[in-house]
Amino acid sequence: MHVLVLGAGLLGVSTAHFLQQQGHQVTVVDRQAAAAAETSFANGGQISVSHAEPWANPGAPLKLLQWLGREDAPLLFRLRADMRQWLWGLQFLRECTPARTRHNIRQIVALGSYSRSTLQQLRGELGLQYDQRAQGILHFYTDAKEFDAAHAPAALMRELGCDRRVISADEALRLEPALAHAHPTLAGATYTAEDESGDARQFTQALASRCAANGVRFLFNHGITALRTAGGAIDHVEATDDQGRFQRLRADAYVVAMGAFSPLLLQPLGIHLPSYPAKGYSVTMPVADPRKAHQVSLTDDGHKLVFSRLGDRLRIAGTAELNGYNRDLNPVRCQAIVRRVEELFPGAGDSSRAEFWTGLRPTTPSNLPVIGKSRLSNLFLNTGHGTLGWTHACGSGKSIARIVSGLAPELDFGFAGIDRPVRVGAGALRPA
Ligand SMILES: Cc1cc2nc3c(=O)[nH]c(=O)nc-3n(C[C@H](O)[C@H](O)[C@H](O)COP(=O)(O)OP(=O)(O)OC[C@H]3O[C@@H](n4cnc5c(N)ncnc54)[C@H](O)[C@@H]3O)c2cc1C
Repeated sequence: MHVLVLGAGLLGVSTAHFLQQQGHQVTVVDRQAAAAAETSFANGGQISVSHAEPWANPGAPLKLLQWLGREDAPLLFRLRADMRQWLWGLQFLRECTPARTRHNIRQIVALGSYSRSTLQQLRGELGLQYDQRAQGILHFYTDAKEFDAAHAPAALMRELGCDRRVISADEALRLEPALAHAHPTLAGATYTAEDESGDARQFTQALASRCAANGVRFLFNHGITALRTAGGAIDHVEATDDQGRFQRLRADAYVVAMGAFSPLLLQPLGIHLPSYPAKGYSVTMPVADPRKAHQVSLTDDGHKLVFSRLGDRLRIAGTAELNGYNRDLNPVRCQAIVRRVEELFPGAGDSSRAEFWTGLRPTTPSNLPVIGKSRLSNLFLNTGHGTLGWTHACGSGKSIARIVSGLAPELDFGFAGIDRPVRVGAGALRPA
């Protein structure tokens, strides 16, 4: 079967790889000149299975209200005259009940665990290099109340099979000596040894090269303008190439993996994806003094920032702004991140050579991605991965390739459009 994959980010390229492994002829289409040039370009780098708490949780509505209008807020809702944004907000509130939060966490962990082992297997098989580190993720707290509140989610993660241990500030320092300066301010931490980190762009581009070597065709610099239907199926995709020439691209099946832009191309077909862009920031700076720079991937709970060591670079990422498709760099936010790095790890990085970036997370209200069949017979979806697209990329890619091939996915997850009951972890049964 010939499959057209729309989008060459983390999700599109992992989909292409696993489709090719299933024996399909695969073409990947993207408007950029290379893979991972949009949201997969400079993310936080964490493969964080154990950080499955979605933004939508029982404490979120109050926090959001307190943060409204604060330029340096970790999660900022900028209200616009945009129906999609308002609908998303209402659906988000619905996901904040304790029952929905528990359900979403179980699903996120199930996909995360499967995805991490799929990534490890792929890395072993293909020998991919992407500044990866398998030194775990350490989540530290500077507020005693927040640390106390972290015990319950850590216990839930352990119940779901992630060994997220609650540790003291001293233990955190033993695991990551670069926390020496911050140590007096630490209330405690949690640590998951199995979690990992690595450069998502390097990974995606390395995997794309392997795909190309194995016969996957990449049509870069092709802007997709429409998906056209006939008889309850996609007939063709319309695109414009780098010379401005109109193209009709045809295949037997189509997988949408266009990140934050997926809903825009699906809406005219009557498919309303519950996904809205959440702008995030990252700062990348060269390591100035390796003795002062962290090696373990870190999460700073108070500032909602993640820190990854990518070879001789420090990558710091976070913040979320729901403000449509705007990708402008806000200097207040950039400087807040740099200030925090200098506070925690003085002298570790060269902030005079910092590179700033923003990306749009394709975020659903539940933080669960949409993976599976659509109501058009040959159209499949692999999108809406929000804050965890790197963590979930390989498992999502492998699952959608199996679904396209008519095979059952290998894990219990609420895959879209698959008419069977799904058991998630030890928990409830619900129809997909
Ligand atoms: C600041 C930040 C930090 C993050 N940190 C982490 C982290 O630590 N761990 C984690 O797991 N996740 C993290 N994420 C999330 C993760 O980066 C995303 O979920 C993931 O990159 C989404 O990948 P994607 O393939 O769906 O989208 P993209 O990477 O955006 O890929 C979509 C592709 O579709 C193409 N496209 C779109 N529209 C068209 C069109 N009309 N025509 C042609 N091509 C088109 C784009 O060019 C793009 O290449 C972070 C995100 C941000 C923003």
